[in-house]
Amino acid sequence: MKIKVGIGYDVHKFSEEKTNTHITLGGYKIPSERKIIAHSDGDLVLHAITDSLLGAIGAGDIGYYFPPSELKWKNADSKIFVKYALELIKEKKGTLNNVDIIIICESPKINPHRDYIRNSLADILGLEIDDVNVKATTVEKLGAIGREEGIACQAVACVTIYN
Ligand code: ZN
Repeated sequence: MKIKVGIGYDVHKFSEEKTNTHITLGGYKIPSERKIIAHSDGDLVLHAITDSLLGAIGAGDIGYYFPPSELKWKNADSKIFVKYALELIKEKKGTLNNVDIIIICESPKINPHRDYIRNSLADILGLEIDDVNVKATTVEKLGAIGREEGIACQAVACVTIYN
């Protein structure tokens, strides 16, 4: 038996124009003034988690399996990427133990949505609620994220591989 961890990070830019819209974080829709610019549905939480899952089993990164240059991933539901990584873990006789994430942004405010994101992630990942942790932080108005130009997410996943 081997315990392995993986890390993931993703950042996406907000659109310039302000409209009443929503963004999808961890499979959960949050009202937002601006859209996220992305090839897929722009769910950077799921992208970061996918990379952490792939990282834990030494399987590269999301861009290797789902290159943004490929038209078929345009507006793709990012759950597809997570499910694919979970499938690879299964093939390696592994199980996902837990996931911990930090959403980094000034806006929208994540706190009111935290439990919904957590529930959504537990559902997508097939984990108990206690095995999914969602944290959020700002960057004290520093840099590009501080200027509300984008939103970022860090993820860590822990996997047990049974030999
Ligand atoms: Zn992404």
